[in-house]
Amino acid sequence: MASIDRYSRQTLFPGIGEEGQKKLGNSNVAIIGCGALGTVIATCLVRAGVGKVKIIDRDFIEYHNLQRQVIFDEEDIRDELPKAIAAERHLKKVNSSVKVEGVVADVNYANIERLVAGADLMLDGLDNFETRFLINDVSLKHDIPWVYGGCISSYGMTMTIIPHKTPCLRCLQINPTSGGLALTCDTAGVIGPAPFIIGSLQTAEAMKILVGTEEINPDLIMIDAWKDEFNHFKVGSRADCPACHGEYEFLEARFGTRTTSLCGQNAVQVLNPEAKEVSFESLAAHLRPLGEVNYSEFMLRFRVDNHEMVIFPDGRAIVKNTSDEALARGLYAKYIGM
Ligand SMILES: [Zn+2]
Repeated sequence: MASIDRYSRQTLFPGIGEEGQKKLGNSNVAIIGCGALGTVIATCLVRAGVGKVKIIDRDFIEYHNLQRQVIFDEEDIRDELPKAIAAERHLKKVNSSVKVEGVVADVNYANIERLVAGADLMLDGLDNFETRFLINDVSLKHDIPWVYGGCISSYGMTMTIIPHKTPCLRCLQINPTSGGLALTCDTAGVIGPAPFIIGSLQTAEAMKILVGTEEINPDLIMIDAWKDEFNHFKVGSRADCPACHGEYEFLEARFGTRTTSLCGQNAVQVLNPEAKEVSFESLAAHLRPLGEVNYSEFMLRFRVDNHEMVIFPDGRAIVKNTSDEALARGLYAKYIGM
């Protein structure tokens, strides 16, 4: 009976009901990116009793995240936890009946299909269009719906994509490299209410998709949390959209980069898709004569000259205190090896 009491306020709502609650409990979702949007979506879906929630994120937590990333706290930063691990630990305490799985990984063309295998739905908590287009390709290829969300400054956007039924993200004709936005978190910042609103709208769409209602909203929604503006835009399918015609350009790695400047962090991520599992023990032994090294189960930190690198078990590194991608690639090649 405990489980019925737990969801009583939600099952009383006619859009969900007892039947909808059962469907939520049998559902499997993947949340890709666990920043402001991802934390809002994850906490709502775990509380709502979605059966399996996988949270995939490549990053660790910093103080400037706490202003809007709603499930993290100062202790997570002191413990140097990756976001995916901290999210899993917090959310398991919120609802022990949900299978919450945190995965520390950079989602890329080589791993996305494996990471989202079995998911009924994908939710976008990302900060870049390159990975969103990858999700879009996987959605169309494997027939998995997804909900796009993005925020900057006081603005936010969201759109629901039901593959082969509604227009996809590439139908919008956004430039893959610029993302169609001149602003980034680095230059424009972001206030908490914008991702809280967009993450909530994404969660409502997720619940509707999972309970199987026909009331899905196919419009592009744009909001301004500061000016209290909400706008709907009708989006049409594009006749020459590559993804809608089975050309998965991002999944086939015809676009894609190995270095990415991280939104709002003055840091660059370097990927090494060829890397196998990295042994921190042997890497630390190799780096110790060259600089300062320490490592935990989740990451290895290496300081040399004025640079700091954080290396993850999948061979990925974040080079801090620079936005120079060439410099970051050079440091990676020098100390970790390509
Ligand atoms: Zn399309």
